[in-house]
Amino acid sequence: MPSHDVLIIGAGLAGQRAALSAAEAGASVAIVSKVHPVRSHSVAAAGGINAALNPEDSWESHAFDTVKGSDYLGDQDAIEIMCREAPDQILYLEHLGVTFHRNDTGHLGTRAFGGASAARTYYVADITGHAILHVLYEQLMKRSEQIDRYEEWFTTDLLQDEEGRCTGAICRDLRNGALEVFNAKATILASGGAGQVYKPTTNGLIVTGDGISQAYRIGAKLMDMEMVQYHPTTLAGNGLLITEGARGEGAWLLNAEGDRFMEKYAPNKFELASRDVVSRAEQTEINEGRGFSDGTVALDITKVPRRRTLEALREIVNIGRDFAGVDITREPIHILPGMHYIMGGIKTDSDGETTVPYLYAAGEVACVSVHGGNRLGANSLLDTLVFGRRSGAHAAARALQMPMPSTNSARVAETEKHITAIMNRPQGGRRIGAIKNELGETMNEYVAVFRDEAGLTKAHEIVRRLKEEATVAAIDDRGSVFNQDVIAAIELGYMLDVAETIVVGALERKECRGAQWRIDYPGRRDDEWLKHIDISMNGADVPLVSFSPVTITRWEPEERTY
Ligand SMILES: Cc1cc2nc3c(=O)[nH]c(=O)nc-3n(C[C@H](O)[C@H](O)[C@H](O)COP(=O)(O)OP(=O)(O)OC[C@H]3O[C@@H](n4cnc5c(N)ncnc54)[C@H](O)[C@@H]3O)c2cc1C
Repeated sequence: MPSHDVLIIGAGLAGQRAALSAAEAGASVAIVSKVHPVRSHSVAAAGGINAALNPEDSWESHAFDTVKGSDYLGDQDAIEIMCREAPDQILYLEHLGVTFHRNDTGHLGTRAFGGASAARTYYVADITGHAILHVLYEQLMKRSEQIDRYEEWFTTDLLQDEEGRCTGAICRDLRNGALEVFNAKATILASGGAGQVYKPTTNGLIVTGDGISQAYRIGAKLMDMEMVQYHPTTLAGNGLLITEGARGEGAWLLNAEGDRFMEKYAPNKFELASRDVVSRAEQTEINEGRGFSDGTVALDITKVPRRRTLEALREIVNIGRDFAGVDITREPIHILPGMHYIMGGIKTDSDGETTVPYLYAAGEVACVSVHGGNRLGANSLLDTLVFGRRSGAHAAARALQMPMPSTNSARVAETEKHITAIMNRPQGGRRIGAIKNELGETMNEYVAVFRDEAGLTKAHEIVRRLKEEATVAAIDDRGSVFNQDVIAAIELGYMLDVAETIVVGALERKECRGAQWRIDYPGRRDDEWLKHIDISMNGADVPLVSFSPVTITRWEPEERTY
């Protein structure tokens, strides 16, 4: 049985950063990933990472922008920590070898991003996540004596002792189907977001909410689940992302009448208002008949000098050409708001501790909450690094003081039984893909940019029905080698859990704040709703709602305009 001081589930930026900091603190570490680490979804991050590193900028300004961007739902103590620690993270990465863009004077150069009062986004063309992930992975390999990598291992369940403390996880080796208990003094979930709950989404097929559901199932509280970000610039149909970097470089948004409509909605910031504001503006233009016949508006990147686009936005040049047949350097491209990011997740403190003892969470799986009702672009990579590092350090310090827990390996038998039952399901029920499609389309119809009671109630009924159907959905592959059918069946269960908590949170919050725009409850209502919605499982697969206060340190809520 593999036994380690710290077990990390997920090898994207949060997991890798946590592994390095736990190892630096002297802990033995296991890092598990269901795909090869450099295929983790962080690899898709494009536009950059925020930090107030320039002497003319300040962490206070970054923190205020983040608080305002969150529509005052973010916890200000955690936001202060993130923004204070941001410059060190950029320097750490630069010293490890991340080739951040340099300007004409040879200094680290920045680009503007939405909702920010200064250009403070550091970037590597439009492949920032790719560049960082590969450099961190080199460091993991360099520390292979301390960090054991379990690549293409799938975590199915978290383990607890009689006192409810997390003692590790059960993982399946995807190469041969073998199940193992991973024993650990502390476990860090870094398993990413839940984009596949929606269709379309900018997120890859592997982003299925596994960690959020696994933690929920063992009693951890989730927080801010209703806050799901729609990114303003995604391609119709496939959901592919056109990075906010394009607007940061100067691209305009135009409706079908050729108007630069953001002037109306955000007269100071135009296209660089925060994402919830821009997405609502676009959706309003489309709903009121000023969009194109394909239900989109246009992003005009020809405003950016062609040479600059080819240098700094080359991936989206490829995306435009390959997936929309458009040369973005010469003509506008049609876009619309699309599901992109989940602000909610497993409730943690600023050291990554969840409400389950010895279980930590960091990155998109977690909710610290630094993003509140709306994440600012380029603050997510920062979140993964700052809170990945902090979780790793805290978990290691604790683990080094503890004896190794002993896990009853008989627990594996239950998981084995569950998987065998999936394999033996009779044919005839609905296909897993069909259930997943209905889930994604339902969420995209009723739990999107604008929401109301009737739509959310309908979505909840559908999710409950899909939960029933998922328990009998048959699979074709009954083998043990790379059986992705079994994995898809398990992931579907996770996605349905996550969907239900999103819908329940959205039904509960009766106001407009950040990404939660209830057309039946206009206006932000701080008197009643300046609080987090926490959701836990009450033991019978019924989400239980409770509330917790928002931490305010120095920025009292005020009207939010851009
Ligand atoms: C197209 C796109 C562009 C983006 N651009 C930016 C940007 O420019 N700036 C920015 O700040 N943010 C950006 N974001 C958001 C940001 O990339 C993500 O929020 C962030 O990378 C998430 O990192 P993570 O480490 O939490 O998770 P991930 O990188 O998703 O990693 C999750 C890890 O968990 C593993 N895992 C999951 N489930 C299991 C399981 N059951 N068993 C074992 N392993 C498991 C996966 O294999 C993976 O290793 C972008 C997002 C998208 C989709």
